Amino acid sequence: MNIINNNTGWIEVICGSMYSGKTEELIRRVHRAEYARQKIQVFKPEIDDRYASDHIVSHSQMKAPSVSVKKPAEILSQVEADTQIVAIDEVQFFSKKIVEVCNKLANMGERVIVAGLDQDYKGRPFGPMPELMAIAEYVTKNLAICVKCGNPANRTQRLTKEKSRIVVGAKDIYEARCRNCHEVLE
Ligand code: ADP
Ligand code: ZN
Repeated sequence: MNIINNNTGWIEVICGSMYSGKTEELIRRVHRAEYARQKIQVFKPEIDDRYASDHIVSHSQMKAPSVSVKKPAEILSQVEADTQIVAIDEVQFFSKKIVEVCNKLANMGERVIVAGLDQDYKGRPFGPMPELMAIAEYVTKNLAICVKCGNPANRTQRLTKEKSRIVVGAKDIYEARCRNCHEVLE
């Protein structure tokens, strides 16, 4: 991705299934911004404290400090005047208000990088992701590896019979699967 910044903001979306490397890619971009001595703030929804409440952590144990927030509006109020980049992980867990917040930040000149699941465990588009992908300047879609057959995996298999859309968990509850191997357990 070649970005020429003529004093404008923009939105980057990193999406894909679980284990597709979304958080790794977000952290990679955060670290590159740090090498460039740019001021960056990282947020995530409070709901996702699987590994740490003050860091985003990838399944491969890459880490970056982050701040947990309950609502999208809190991101707006916490962004500091000299911040150049706003990164948000697990963005699918926020309400659709996050779309407006990301747009506002980009209009203010921020580089906004968000990472999130594009589909839920049934393969349905997840929360604000379709709108974020539509308004973003850059969309990166990652694939994991299907644990059943080794093909590229674009879905997240829930291994339990729980029905609610949000059940926070990792390898005990979810695995990456391709469209052929993915099934919705009823
Ligand atoms: P995401 O944020 O998309 O859930 P992470 O960035 O946290 O993904 O983790 C990606 C890492 O997960 C990979 O680099 C790899 O080490 C690990 N991993 C575990 N299971 C798989 C899988 N089935 N396919 C690909 N990577 C996997
Ligand atoms: Zn498969």
